[in-house]
Amino acid sequence: MTAPDFDTSGAPGDGTRAVRAGLPEPVKYEPTLPGPVFAAHYHLPGEPTGPYTYGRDENPTWTRLEQAIGELEAPGRDGVETLAFASGMAAISAVLFSQLRAGDIAVLPADGYQVLPLVREQLTAYGIEVRTAPTGADAQLGVLDGAKLLWIETPSNPGLDVCDVRRLVAAAHAQGTLVAVDNTLATPLGQRPLDLGADFSVASGTKMLTGHGDLLLGYVVGRNAGPMAAVRRWRKIVGAVPGPMEAWLAHRSLATLQLRADRQTANALAVAEALRGRSEVSGLRYPGLPEDPSHEIAARQMRRFGCVVSFTLPTRARADRFLEALRIVDDATSFGGVRSTAERRGRWGGDAVPEGFVRLSAGAEDPEDLVADVLRALDESATL
Ligand SMILES: *Cc1c(COP(=O)(O)O)cnc(C)c1O
Repeated sequence: MTAPDFDTSGAPGDGTRAVRAGLPEPVKYEPTLPGPVFAAHYHLPGEPTGPYTYGRDENPTWTRLEQAIGELEAPGRDGVETLAFASGMAAISAVLFSQLRAGDIAVLPADGYQVLPLVREQLTAYGIEVRTAPTGADAQLGVLDGAKLLWIETPSNPGLDVCDVRRLVAAAHAQGTLVAVDNTLATPLGQRPLDLGADFSVASGTKMLTGHGDLLLGYVVGRNAGPMAAVRRWRKIVGAVPGPMEAWLAHRSLATLQLRADRQTANALAVAEALRGRSEVSGLRYPGLPEDPSHEIAARQMRRFGCVVSFTLPTRARADRFLEALRIVDDATSFGGVRSTAERRGRWGGDAVPEGFVRLSAGAEDPEDLVADVLRALDESATL
């Protein structure tokens, strides 16, 4: 699909930015993207100052990756800081636990990532009041009063509801509430939360950002120096830092982000279009489908609609047979990889979904092969 072009400034396009993001100035005989720097400590005679002192605080391979992610999440924006983490959860926890104190109020989505309920328990144990409301219909607005921090996940995983980020940010900022957006599903080429007004864009780099299903990573991008200093301090205290190899693999993978995102988005739309004609499929959701309840808001704030499609088959057994019958779609969790995956989400017990609910992540296969595999598996799973 072609992304609607919101950028009229003559700035480079997504593909150009993706292949060049975070690269150092060319130096004769040096590689384009220098390899991972494996270092627990650095030579440091005299006063312990300067960028590289100890490996839990800084690493040149992280610096380049952080620069790259910042260029994709907030192009042309000054004063933005990016911090890389060991995983998406490390990044999410760093924002929540560094910004909130006992007595504060936090608003989380009721239908967000399946680990959020555990986070909620921990926040509550520390004396923080946590309120939740669904993502759809901007319902979080109804519980925002007096909150210190609003956490948004749009599109939500796995339900694929979308909320109006600009509208929520306006209400939050009017009362001094910080806003963080989980940008995992969209990726920075799908949506740029800071451009929509958010204070933080937080994501798992484990999914489509890196796209090969071979590493865990997370990041926080923020526009406010004070809150970001607290996030950096939290990273140092907790030490949930990415390994240099993971950081380097992630940076290498960013070069193909636009290619992957375009192909996987197109494939997701093709799968969704094929599924909508099937009588055994209910609750089909894909924000890129014009008739989807999320589409109108998604089209206003997203530039690509992501690679995840969700739908429900009549029974748990039918869903299991469907997954078993797929040949080029792996039965696996996670999403965003170049190889398509699908799973019966109810097997984890964490999401409020029907037993037959399937979350499918479209990979980079040829669309006709992927659609054919899905339709054949639906046919084969009908009878046994
Ligand atoms: C996977 C995921 C996370 C957690 O990321 P990890 O890298 O697995 O820690 C957070 N939010 C969303 C929306 C996710 O899909």
